[in-house]
Amino acid sequence: MIKIEKAERLVTLPPYLFKEIDRQKEEVKKRGVDIIDLGVGDPDLPTPPHIIESLNQAASNPANHRYPSYSGMDDFNEAVARWYKKRFNVSLNSKTEVVTLIGSKEGIAHIPLAFINQGDISLATSPGYPVYNIGVKFAGGTTYYMDLLKKNNFLPDLEAIPKDIASKAKLMFINYPNNPTSATANSDFFKKVIAFAEKYNIIVCHDAAYTELCFDGYKPESFLETEGAKDVGIEFHSLSKTYNMTGWRLGFAVGKAEVISALGQVKSNIDSGAFQAVQVAGITALDGDQSCVYKINKEYQERRDILIDGLLKLGLTVEKPKATFYCWIEVPKGYTSASFATHLLSKAGIVATPGNGFGAAGEGYVRMTLTVCKERLKEAVERIRSVGI
Ligand SMILES: *Cc1c(COP(=O)(O)O)cnc(C)c1O
Repeated sequence: MIKIEKAERLVTLPPYLFKEIDRQKEEVKKRGVDIIDLGVGDPDLPTPPHIIESLNQAASNPANHRYPSYSGMDDFNEAVARWYKKRFNVSLNSKTEVVTLIGSKEGIAHIPLAFINQGDISLATSPGYPVYNIGVKFAGGTTYYMDLLKKNNFLPDLEAIPKDIASKAKLMFINYPNNPTSATANSDFFKKVIAFAEKYNIIVCHDAAYTELCFDGYKPESFLETEGAKDVGIEFHSLSKTYNMTGWRLGFAVGKAEVISALGQVKSNIDSGAFQAVQVAGITALDGDQSCVYKINKEYQERRDILIDGLLKLGLTVEKPKATFYCWIEVPKGYTSASFATHLLSKAGIVATPGNGFGAAGEGYVRMTLTVCKERLKEAVERIRSVGI
């Protein structure tokens, strides 16, 4: 028998704040309650058939069975560059400004290894996607949190960051359209980010996972559309949410060549790239007919209207999202994030994620996702109405 001792980096991980709600969910399930799970950020709809067909064909080709290139197939990186040109009018050199990722989470988790030394600081938002902090922590750094507040439209107040922190910061993670708040950003905000990054010599990592999931004719911007963005940073993107491909593990990072190449250097020492057949299917997704994206968004928009209109009628305070499949709901008076989530689960059998699980500044909110069908959303509203808030 040997004694298994975990490394400091695992022992000192922040507490998993969704543990309590997960435990309650199991308990409610055991009681035989028909749970409506509005907790998961994973599309319920299948990948469009033409993309699956493309994988099927590519999987039979022995040329795709070998080790791929760690930085991605030339053809895939070129498809990414074509897509950026078509979608955002951003020109990219597919050889130096694009790297393929095994899902964007992989790149987000690994980029700190390229730039963070022991004791270095990174900036990330609270609430925010937890991986921004964990990757930095694994690399020996710490995160300074920029709060996302309603009074600032859930954009970070860069002027509130202490100068000594800003001077020491190496990376900044931002994410618009935003998970979990569903807030959006435009070039006015991105201009401020670029000026801040120039002033303090900070690499900006913009997570753009939700730019294609948008409603009412609104088209989110890429960070790279704003002048000067490519001098200070990169953008992470993913096929996961756009084409219902979360299980396929395919994403990419684009932008400043030195940053992309350093991320590629880390990857070349850790993984050997994404399965080529999956990359071929990714080319089909990016180059092909985009009417599937339109259909997916139409479905989410109808779901959004059912849930948001229903919640507003019940007297809850929530902004109608212009993008993402998240609804960021203020908890009613007398509740905390945790107690409201518990109320919804134990009384109505509805899973909502307590906002403080995404960071301290998420307290006072719960997040609901639009990844269940319209009938179930109608029922969720009806159940909340019948148990009261
Ligand atoms: C879903 C999600 C991702 C990860 O997507 P993958 O490409 O599947 O790894 C990244 N960032 C945010 C904010 C997300 O919600």
